[in-house]
Amino acid sequence: MTRVQAVLFNRDGVLLDGVPRSPDDVRPAPGAAETLWQLRRHGLRTGVITLRGPLTEAETRRVDTRVDELLGPFDVWAVCPHAADADCRCRAPEPALLLWAAGRLCTAPAACALVGDTAADAEAAQRVGARALLLPTRGNATGRQGEREGAEEGARAGETEVGAGAGGTAVQIVADLPAVARALVPQTPDGPG
Ligand SMILES: [Zn+2]
Repeated sequence: MTRVQAVLFNRDGVLLDGVPRSPDDVRPAPGAAETLWQLRRHGLRTGVITLRGPLTEAETRRVDTRVDELLGPFDVWAVCPHAADADCRCRAPEPALLLWAAGRLCTAPAACALVGDTAADAEAAQRVGARALLLPTRGNATGRQGEREGAEEGARAGETEVGAGAGGTAVQIVADLPAVARALVPQTPDGPG
C-alpha cells in the first residue's frame, strides 16, 4: 500500500462534534487535538473537507477560522461553496473535494487518507485510490441513515479492515480519532509535551 502522506478529515461529525451553527458552537470531537498533533509530529500533512450546509459563506468562514484556531494549522481546506440544496458534485461519493485537496498538497490521491463516517465517504476515497478510515457517526446530520449503518456495524466489530477497492485501497473501520493516529503512524509511548 502507498505510504500515507496526508490525512483529510471531514469536518462535521468527524473532526467536530455535530454541525456548528456559529463559531461559539465549534466543539472538537474527543481526541481531535491529540490525534492531529500525533499526525503532524510524524510529518503527515492534515486537511479538512467540509460542506457549507445551511450557513452562508461568511458564516462558514467564521466557523472554519475558529476550527483552525482550535485544531490547526491545517495544510489545506477543501470547502464546498454551494448551498445545501444545490445538489452539487462536491459531495461524497463524488471525490471532487478529495482530489482538489490532494492537488493543493501536490500529493497523489493514493497517498491520502480520508477520515469520514459514511459509506459514501469510503466510496469517494476508493474511486481515487485513497485510503479510507471510517468512524462510527455520533448523531450528526451529514450522512444518510443507510450509509451510517454500515460504518456502525463495522465499528462494533472493532478496528478491522473491511474491504479493498480497486487498486487495493483499504477501508478501515476505526473506533475513534486516536485510532486514526494509531493506524497511520508508528506508535511511541510518549504523549504531547
Ligand atoms: Zn459543492
